[in-house]
Amino acid sequence: MDATEEGMTMAMIGFIGLGNMGTGMAANLAKVGHVVRAFDVSEAALSHAVEVGAVRAGSVTEAVTGADAVITMLQTGQQVRDVYENEAFAAASREAILIDCSTIDVATARAVGEAAAGRSIDMVDAPVSGGVAGSIAATLTFMVGGTDKSFAKARPFLAAMGKAVIHAGPAGSGQAAKICNNMLLGASMIATAEAFNLAIRLGLDPQVFFDISSKASGQCWSMTSYCPVPGPVPAAPSNRNYDGGFMSALMLKDLKLAMAASQATGASVPMGALAESLYQNFVNLGGAPKDFSAIIKLLDGSWRKEG
Ligand code: NAD
Repeated sequence: MDATEEGMTMAMIGFIGLGNMGTGMAANLAKVGHVVRAFDVSEAALSHAVEVGAVRAGSVTEAVTGADAVITMLQTGQQVRDVYENEAFAAASREAILIDCSTIDVATARAVGEAAAGRSIDMVDAPVSGGVAGSIAATLTFMVGGTDKSFAKARPFLAAMGKAVIHAGPAGSGQAAKICNNMLLGASMIATAEAFNLAIRLGLDPQVFFDISSKASGQCWSMTSYCPVPGPVPAAPSNRNYDGGFMSALMLKDLKLAMAASQATGASVPMGALAESLYQNFVNLGGAPKDFSAIIKLLDGSWRKEG
């Protein structure tokens, strides 16, 4: 590592998975002076990453070889397993820190973390909250699982991409925090949406109900930051026909991860299970690309008419 003009430590970073989230994250690392060697199986994704400051790598091995840090931002646990077990573990320096920022199941995160430890390489799971907008603005929140030493090594890289970096516990704990948070989010969005639907049927103006409930005991993030009814929160996707934001397909994916974790641990999650079933229904009816707050349309019956 060398010193950059800003006095920061410049590092070589291998970045695998330059999709919706990874591109902005890689751009922010490049902005602070790191050399980001990027690889993605999609040529379109890779070209976009190069446009925003990354250096093209021809393979996972090329991106990882000689890197001080390796960051993966992939879709599924299987992809994470494949990238690390097929190439990244073999190519990584024993001094490197491996950082998986994908949202995947806890069991896979623990297994990959243990495999890294078995090779004497430091690794953390570090899933994110904050969405595509946060990935571009470097305002993500990272929930990190791993040893104290691994966390300390990962922290400066994560800090360049986010506003909060929180150590959740040993390997897999970041994923555990992420899926519990998103199960709560899915259930609270559904509860918020049905409360607004009932309020409207009872003749209440939704803005008036918002003004009351946002200051009363029903207040929650799904209402005050992401209101599913257009109007009360101008920045919410409900004002843009539920486009952009956090896709219902991804909410369903996270709820499925939560259900798998509940089965593995025996935890009772009836509200989470109902949320999974309702989002599955919404996705089956074509809601996958819509923001997850569009579930209000399934609940009030208007989604079928449009869809
Ligand atoms: P994405 O599909 O846009 O990007 C994933 C990228 O990984 C794709 O470009 C794909 O080509 C690439 N990829 C897949 N297999 C690969 C391989 N073997 N080698 C190299 N590249 C490979 O997904 P995304 O929206 O960027 O999400 C990434 C992760 O972040 C997911 O786990 C998602 O659940 C999580 N997440 C997403 C959001 C969001 O708002 N999009 C928010 C928080 C967390």
